[in-house]
Amino acid sequence: MIPFLDLGAAYREIKPEIDRAVQRVLESGWYVLGPEVDAFEAEWAEYCGAAHAVGLANGLDALILALRALDVGPGDEVIVPSNTYIATWLAVSAVGARPVPVEPDPATHNLNPSLITAALTDRTKAILPVHLYGQPADLDPILMLARAHGIAVVEDAAQAHGAQYKGRKIGAHGDIVCWSFYPGKNLGALGDAGAITTNNADLADRIRMLRNYGSREKYVNEVQGVNSRLDPIQAAVLRVKLAHLHNWSERRQAIAALYLEGLARTGLIMPHVPDWANPAWHLFVIRSADRDSVQARLTKAGIGSLIHYPIAPHMQAAYSEMGLAADTLPVARKLAAEVLSLPIGPQLSLQNAQAVIEVLTDI
Ligand SMILES: *Cc1c(COP(=O)(O)O)cnc(C)c1O
Repeated sequence: MIPFLDLGAAYREIKPEIDRAVQRVLESGWYVLGPEVDAFEAEWAEYCGAAHAVGLANGLDALILALRALDVGPGDEVIVPSNTYIATWLAVSAVGARPVPVEPDPATHNLNPSLITAALTDRTKAILPVHLYGQPADLDPILMLARAHGIAVVEDAAQAHGAQYKGRKIGAHGDIVCWSFYPGKNLGALGDAGAITTNNADLADRIRMLRNYGSREKYVNEVQGVNSRLDPIQAAVLRVKLAHLHNWSERRQAIAALYLEGLARTGLIMPHVPDWANPAWHLFVIRSADRDSVQARLTKAGIGSLIHYPIAPHMQAAYSEMGLAADTLPVARKLAAEVLSLPIGPQLSLQNAQAVIEVLTDI
Protein backbone atom coordinates (compact mmCIF):
# COMPACT_ATOMS: atom_id res chain seq x y z
CA MET A 1 0.00 0.00 0.00
CA ILE A 2 1.29 3.46 -0.93
CA PRO A 3 -0.69 6.22 0.83
CA PHE A 4 -1.35 9.54 -0.92
CA LEU A 5 0.36 11.33 1.97
CA ASP A 6 1.66 9.98 5.29
CA LEU A 7 1.53 12.68 7.99
CA GLY A 8 2.30 10.14 10.74
CA ALA A 9 5.59 9.30 9.00
CA ALA A 10 6.50 12.99 8.92
CA TYR A 11 5.95 13.23 12.67
CA ARG A 12 7.91 10.05 13.40
CA GLU A 13 10.88 11.30 11.40
CA ILE A 14 11.39 14.25 13.78
CA LYS A 15 9.43 13.10 16.83
CA PRO A 16 12.00 13.98 19.55
CA GLU A 17 12.31 17.56 18.25
CA ILE A 18 8.54 18.04 18.01
CA ASP A 19 7.91 16.52 21.41
CA ARG A 20 10.55 18.78 23.02
CA ALA A 21 9.05 21.89 21.37
CA VAL A 22 5.50 21.07 22.53
CA GLN A 23 6.79 20.31 26.03
CA ARG A 24 8.60 23.65 26.10
CA VAL A 25 5.34 25.52 25.47
CA LEU A 26 3.40 23.42 27.97
CA GLU A 27 5.93 24.22 30.66
CA SER A 28 6.24 27.90 29.75
CA GLY A 29 2.82 28.77 31.15
CA TRP A 30 2.26 31.02 28.08
CA TYR A 31 -0.60 29.76 25.91
CA VAL A 32 -1.77 32.64 23.67
CA LEU A 33 0.58 34.63 21.36
CA GLY A 34 3.86 35.35 23.18
CA PRO A 35 7.49 34.41 22.46
CA GLU A 36 6.93 31.25 20.35
CA VAL A 37 4.57 33.10 18.00
CA ASP A 38 6.94 36.09 17.81
CA ALA A 39 9.87 33.79 17.04
CA PHE A 40 8.01 31.86 14.35
CA GLU A 41 6.84 35.10 12.74
CA ALA A 42 10.42 36.36 12.55
CA GLU A 43 11.69 33.04 11.15
CA TRP A 44 8.87 32.72 8.61
CA ALA A 45 9.33 36.30 7.38
CA GLU A 46 13.06 35.64 6.99
CA TYR A 47 12.46 32.39 5.11
CA CYS A 48 10.03 34.10 2.71
CA GLY A 49 12.20 37.16 2.19
CA ALA A 50 9.43 39.39 3.57
CA ALA A 51 9.75 42.24 6.06
CA HIS A 52 6.80 41.10 8.19
CA ALA A 53 4.87 37.95 9.07
CA VAL A 54 1.73 37.76 11.21
CA GLY A 55 0.63 34.39 12.59
CA LEU A 56 -3.07 33.56 12.29
CA ALA A 57 -5.46 30.75 13.13
CA ASN A 58 -5.74 29.33 9.58
CA GLY A 59 -5.32 30.08 5.89
CA LEU A 60 -8.92 31.13 5.25
CA ASP A 61 -8.60 33.78 7.98
CA ALA A 62 -5.34 34.96 6.40
CA LEU A 63 -7.22 35.64 3.14
CA ILE A 64 -10.16 37.27 4.92
CA LEU A 65 -8.00 39.53 7.11
CA ALA A 66 -5.80 40.47 4.13
CA LEU A 67 -8.91 41.68 2.28
CA ARG A 68 -10.21 43.47 5.38
CA ALA A 69 -6.85 45.19 5.88
CA LEU A 70 -7.16 46.50 2.31
CA ASP A 71 -10.71 47.75 3.03
CA VAL A 72 -12.29 45.37 0.53
CA GLY A 73 -15.98 45.10 1.37
CA PRO A 74 -19.57 45.21 0.14
CA GLY A 75 -19.92 46.53 -3.41
CA ASP A 76 -16.31 45.63 -4.28
CA GLU A 77 -15.11 42.97 -6.71
CA VAL A 78 -12.05 40.75 -6.47
CA ILE A 79 -10.56 38.80 -9.39
CA VAL A 80 -10.13 35.11 -8.45
CA PRO A 81 -9.16 32.02 -10.46
CA SER A 82 -12.12 29.96 -11.70
CA ASN A 83 -10.23 26.82 -10.62
CA THR A 84 -9.05 26.92 -7.03
CA TYR A 85 -9.82 25.53 -3.63
CA ILE A 86 -13.08 27.18 -2.59
CA ALA A 87 -11.40 29.05 0.31
CA THR A 88 -10.13 31.65 -2.18
CA TRP A 89 -13.70 32.52 -3.20
CA LEU A 90 -15.10 32.17 0.34
CA ALA A 91 -12.69 34.81 1.67
CA VAL A 92 -13.98 37.33 -0.87
CA SER A 93 -17.59 36.48 -0.03
CA ALA A 94 -16.86 36.65 3.71
CA VAL A 95 -15.94 40.35 3.51
CA GLY A 96 -19.12 41.03 1.51
CA ALA A 97 -17.35 41.50 -1.83
CA ARG A 98 -18.00 39.61 -5.07
CA PRO A 99 -15.57 37.01 -6.44
CA VAL A 100 -15.10 37.58 -10.18
CA PRO A 101 -13.73 34.38 -11.71
CA VAL A 102 -11.11 34.43 -14.47
CA GLU A 103 -10.11 31.26 -16.30
CA PRO A 104 -6.64 29.71 -15.92
CA ASP A 105 -4.08 28.88 -18.57
CA PRO A 106 -4.83 25.14 -18.93
CA ALA A 107 -1.09 24.39 -19.25
CA THR A 108 -0.14 25.89 -15.87
CA HIS A 109 -3.55 25.68 -14.09
CA ASN A 110 -2.84 29.25 -12.92
CA LEU A 111 -4.64 32.55 -13.59
CA ASN A 112 -4.22 33.60 -17.23
CA PRO A 113 -3.00 37.22 -16.97
CA SER A 114 -4.19 38.06 -20.49
CA LEU A 115 -7.81 37.39 -19.47
CA ILE A 116 -7.80 39.68 -16.44
CA THR A 117 -8.24 43.06 -18.16
CA ALA A 118 -11.62 42.09 -19.58
CA ALA A 119 -12.83 41.21 -16.06
CA LEU A 120 -11.81 44.52 -14.43
CA THR A 121 -14.53 47.08 -13.59
CA ASP A 122 -14.49 50.29 -11.59
CA ARG A 123 -15.47 48.16 -8.58
CA THR A 124 -12.42 45.87 -8.78
CA LYS A 125 -10.40 46.32 -5.58
CA ALA A 126 -7.91 43.47 -5.81
CA ILE A 127 -6.56 40.55 -7.83
CA LEU A 128 -6.19 37.30 -5.89
CA PRO A 129 -3.88 34.88 -7.76
CA VAL A 130 -3.42 31.39 -6.32
CA HIS A 131 -0.12 29.51 -6.64
CA LEU A 132 -2.04 26.35 -7.30
CA TYR A 133 -0.39 23.01 -6.54
CA GLY A 134 2.73 24.98 -5.50
CA GLN A 135 3.33 26.26 -9.06
CA PRO A 136 3.95 30.01 -8.92
CA ALA A 137 1.41 32.09 -10.83
CA ASP A 138 2.79 34.47 -13.47
CA LEU A 139 3.03 37.44 -11.09
CA ASP A 140 4.77 40.15 -13.15
CA PRO A 141 1.94 40.84 -15.63
CA ILE A 142 -0.56 40.64 -12.77
CA LEU A 143 1.41 43.14 -10.65
CA MET A 144 1.78 45.45 -13.66
CA LEU A 145 -1.95 45.39 -14.34
CA ALA A 146 -2.75 46.00 -10.68
CA ARG A 147 -0.37 48.97 -10.47
CA ALA A 148 -1.78 50.45 -13.67
CA HIS A 149 -5.30 50.27 -12.20
CA GLY A 150 -4.39 51.24 -8.64
CA ILE A 151 -5.63 47.95 -7.16
CA ALA A 152 -4.04 45.50 -4.74
CA VAL A 153 -2.60 42.02 -5.26
CA VAL A 154 -3.28 39.46 -2.53
CA GLU A 155 -1.59 36.10 -3.14
CA ASP A 156 -3.08 32.79 -1.99
CA ALA A 157 0.16 30.94 -1.23
CA ALA A 158 -1.47 28.17 0.83
CA GLN A 159 0.20 25.56 -1.41
CA ALA A 160 3.42 27.40 -2.27
CA HIS A 161 5.83 27.27 0.71
CA GLY A 162 9.30 27.76 -0.74
CA ALA A 163 8.17 28.10 -4.37
CA GLN A 164 10.13 30.65 -6.38
CA TYR A 165 9.01 33.08 -9.08
CA LYS A 166 11.91 34.27 -11.27
CA GLY A 167 14.44 33.21 -8.66
CA ARG A 168 12.76 34.89 -5.69
CA LYS A 169 10.68 33.06 -3.08
CA ILE A 170 6.96 33.64 -2.92
CA GLY A 171 6.29 35.84 0.12
CA ALA A 172 6.42 39.53 -0.79
CA HIS A 173 5.79 40.03 -4.50
CA GLY A 174 2.20 41.19 -4.00
CA ASP A 175 0.82 43.49 -1.31
CA ILE A 176 -0.12 40.65 1.06
CA VAL A 177 0.72 36.95 0.78
CA CYS A 178 -1.54 34.46 2.59
CA TRP A 179 -0.35 31.16 4.03
CA SER A 180 -1.99 28.06 5.41
CA PHE A 181 -0.17 25.61 7.68
CA TYR A 182 -2.98 23.05 7.55
CA PRO A 183 -1.35 19.68 8.39
CA GLY A 184 -1.16 18.44 4.79
CA LYS A 185 0.52 21.59 3.44
CA ASN A 186 4.28 21.62 2.67
CA LEU A 187 4.84 23.35 6.01
CA GLY A 188 2.08 21.87 8.15
CA ALA A 189 1.18 22.29 11.80
CA LEU A 190 -0.41 19.59 13.98
CA GLY A 191 -3.77 21.31 13.60
CA ASP A 192 -4.95 24.55 12.01
CA ALA A 193 -2.59 27.48 11.54
CA GLY A 194 -1.95 30.27 9.06
CA ALA A 195 -0.11 33.54 8.47
CA ILE A 196 0.34 36.49 6.18
CA THR A 197 3.63 37.96 4.96
CA THR A 198 4.12 41.43 3.53
CA ASN A 199 6.69 44.18 3.06
CA ASN A 200 4.10 46.78 4.06
CA ALA A 201 4.41 47.68 7.77
CA ASP A 202 0.99 49.37 7.91
CA LEU A 203 -0.81 46.34 6.48
CA ALA A 204 1.06 43.99 8.85
CA ASP A 205 0.13 46.22 11.78
CA ARG A 206 -3.54 46.31 10.72
CA ILE A 207 -3.74 42.53 10.42
CA ARG A 208 -2.02 42.16 13.82
CA MET A 209 -4.77 44.34 15.28
CA LEU A 210 -7.61 42.61 13.39
CA ARG A 211 -6.52 39.12 14.54
CA ASN A 212 -6.69 40.21 18.18
CA TYR A 213 -10.20 41.67 18.56
CA GLY A 214 -9.26 44.87 16.73
CA SER A 215 -7.04 45.78 19.62
CA ARG A 216 -3.44 46.99 19.85
CA GLU A 217 -3.69 47.77 23.51
CA LYS A 218 -5.55 45.38 25.83
CA TYR A 219 -9.24 46.34 26.28
CA VAL A 220 -8.92 49.20 23.76
CA ASN A 221 -10.76 48.19 20.58
CA GLU A 222 -10.19 50.33 17.49
CA VAL A 223 -12.21 48.23 15.04
CA GLN A 224 -14.49 45.18 15.16
CA GLY A 225 -11.78 42.55 14.87
CA VAL A 226 -11.81 38.78 15.31
CA ASN A 227 -9.96 36.17 17.31
CA SER A 228 -7.62 34.55 14.81
CA ARG A 229 -4.34 34.13 16.68
CA LEU A 230 -1.70 31.55 15.82
CA ASP A 231 -1.55 29.03 18.68
CA PRO A 232 1.88 29.01 20.38
CA ILE A 233 1.99 25.19 20.45
CA GLN A 234 1.50 25.20 16.68
CA ALA A 235 4.08 27.99 16.35
CA ALA A 236 6.62 25.86 18.24
CA VAL A 237 5.86 22.87 15.98
CA LEU A 238 6.16 25.05 12.87
CA ARG A 239 9.56 26.34 14.03
CA VAL A 240 10.83 22.75 14.25
CA LYS A 241 9.40 21.84 10.85
CA LEU A 242 10.64 25.03 9.19
CA ALA A 243 14.20 23.90 9.88
CA HIS A 244 13.47 20.79 7.77
CA LEU A 245 11.51 22.52 5.02
CA HIS A 246 14.42 23.01 2.62
CA ASN A 247 15.41 19.36 2.87
CA TRP A 248 11.80 18.17 2.60
CA SER A 249 11.24 20.39 -0.46
CA GLU A 250 14.26 18.80 -2.13
CA ARG A 251 12.75 15.37 -1.61
CA ARG A 252 9.52 16.55 -3.24
CA GLN A 253 11.57 17.87 -6.17
CA ALA A 254 13.30 14.52 -6.59
CA ILE A 255 9.95 12.72 -6.73
CA ALA A 256 8.56 15.27 -9.20
CA ALA A 257 11.64 14.85 -11.42
CA LEU A 258 11.21 11.07 -11.32
CA TYR A 259 7.51 11.33 -12.30
CA LEU A 260 8.21 13.87 -15.06
CA GLU A 261 10.83 11.59 -16.57
CA GLY A 262 9.10 8.25 -15.93
CA LEU A 263 5.66 9.31 -17.21
CA ALA A 264 6.80 11.53 -20.10
CA ARG A 265 6.03 8.94 -22.76
CA THR A 266 2.58 7.99 -21.49
CA GLY A 267 -0.72 9.47 -22.70
CA LEU A 268 -1.02 11.40 -19.45
CA ILE A 269 -0.65 15.19 -19.53
CA MET A 270 2.22 16.17 -17.24
CA PRO A 271 2.49 19.39 -15.17
CA HIS A 272 4.01 22.22 -17.20
CA VAL A 273 6.80 24.15 -15.49
CA PRO A 274 7.60 27.54 -17.12
CA ASP A 275 11.33 28.31 -17.16
CA TRP A 276 10.88 31.10 -14.58
CA ALA A 277 9.18 28.77 -12.08
CA ASN A 278 10.59 26.74 -9.20
CA PRO A 279 7.50 24.91 -7.94
CA ALA A 280 7.05 23.79 -4.34
CA TRP A 281 5.44 20.56 -5.63
CA HIS A 282 2.70 20.60 -3.00
CA LEU A 283 0.78 18.39 -5.42
CA PHE A 284 1.84 16.51 -8.53
CA VAL A 285 -1.20 16.81 -10.78
CA ILE A 286 -1.55 14.93 -14.04
CA ARG A 287 -4.43 15.19 -16.49
CA SER A 288 -6.27 12.56 -18.47
CA ALA A 289 -9.55 12.57 -20.39
CA ASP A 290 -9.90 9.09 -18.89
CA ARG A 291 -9.12 10.23 -15.34
CA ASP A 292 -11.51 7.93 -13.50
CA SER A 293 -10.06 4.76 -15.00
CA VAL A 294 -6.50 5.97 -14.32
CA GLN A 295 -7.50 6.48 -10.69
CA ALA A 296 -9.22 3.08 -10.57
CA ARG A 297 -6.02 1.44 -11.80
CA LEU A 298 -4.00 3.11 -9.01
CA THR A 299 -6.58 2.15 -6.39
CA LYS A 300 -6.49 -1.47 -7.55
CA ALA A 301 -2.69 -1.44 -7.12
CA GLY A 302 -3.04 -0.08 -3.56
CA ILE A 303 -1.87 3.41 -4.47
CA GLY A 304 -3.62 6.46 -3.01
CA SER A 305 -4.56 9.38 -5.24
CA LEU A 306 -6.86 12.38 -4.87
CA ILE A 307 -8.67 14.90 -7.05
CA HIS A 308 -7.88 18.59 -6.49
CA TYR A 309 -10.60 19.62 -7.04
CA PRO A 310 -13.53 17.57 -8.32
CA ILE A 311 -16.08 20.44 -8.40
CA ALA A 312 -15.18 23.95 -9.62
CA PRO A 313 -16.34 26.67 -7.19
CA HIS A 314 -18.99 28.02 -9.61
CA MET A 315 -20.55 24.53 -9.76
CA GLN A 316 -20.82 24.26 -5.96
CA ALA A 317 -24.20 24.64 -4.24
CA ALA A 318 -22.48 27.28 -2.08
CA TYR A 319 -22.27 29.52 -5.17
CA SER A 320 -25.60 28.72 -6.79
CA GLU A 321 -26.62 32.28 -5.80
CA MET A 322 -24.22 33.63 -8.44
CA GLY A 323 -26.27 31.90 -11.12
CA LEU A 324 -23.22 30.95 -13.20
CA ALA A 325 -24.28 28.37 -15.76
CA ALA A 326 -22.12 25.25 -15.98
CA ASP A 327 -20.74 26.24 -19.38
CA THR A 328 -19.66 29.77 -18.39
CA LEU A 329 -16.22 28.67 -17.15
CA PRO A 330 -15.35 25.73 -19.42
CA VAL A 331 -11.64 25.54 -18.59
CA ALA A 332 -12.32 25.19 -14.85
CA ARG A 333 -14.94 22.56 -15.52
CA LYS A 334 -12.69 20.59 -17.87
CA LEU A 335 -9.77 20.65 -15.41
CA ALA A 336 -12.06 19.44 -12.60
CA ALA A 337 -13.03 16.49 -14.81
CA GLU A 338 -9.46 15.58 -15.80
CA VAL A 339 -7.05 16.28 -12.93
CA LEU A 340 -5.56 13.60 -10.69
CA SER A 341 -3.00 14.08 -7.92
CA LEU A 342 -0.35 11.37 -7.54
CA PRO A 343 1.29 10.60 -4.18
CA ILE A 344 4.06 13.08 -3.32
CA GLY A 345 5.64 14.10 -0.05
CA PRO A 346 8.95 14.10 1.81
CA GLN A 347 8.25 10.70 3.32
CA LEU A 348 7.40 8.99 0.02
CA SER A 349 10.39 6.88 -1.00
CA LEU A 350 11.76 7.08 -4.55
CA GLN A 351 11.19 3.34 -4.70
CA ASN A 352 7.47 3.84 -4.06
CA ALA A 353 7.33 6.70 -6.56
CA GLN A 354 8.88 4.29 -9.08
CA ALA A 355 6.13 1.79 -8.23
CA VAL A 356 3.53 4.46 -9.06
CA ILE A 357 5.24 5.04 -12.42
CA GLU A 358 5.20 1.34 -13.21
CA VAL A 359 1.45 1.12 -12.72
CA LEU A 360 0.95 3.99 -15.19
CA THR A 361 3.63 3.41 -17.84
CA ASP A 362 1.49 1.69 -20.47
CA ILE A 363 -1.30 4.29 -20.45
C1 LIG B 1 -5.49 25.04 2.22
C2 LIG B 1 -5.90 26.16 1.35
C3 LIG B 1 -6.56 27.30 1.86
C4 LIG B 1 -7.13 27.39 3.25
O1 LIG B 1 -6.32 27.10 4.29
P1 LIG B 1 -6.92 26.62 5.70
O2 LIG B 1 -5.74 26.73 6.60
O3 LIG B 1 -7.42 25.24 5.53
O4 LIG B 1 -8.01 27.56 6.08
C5 LIG B 1 -6.79 28.36 1.01
N1 LIG B 1 -6.43 28.31 -0.28
C6 LIG B 1 -5.83 27.24 -0.82
C7 LIG B 1 -5.45 27.26 -2.25
C8 LIG B 1 -5.56 26.12 -0.02
O5 LIG B 1 -4.98 25.04 -0.57
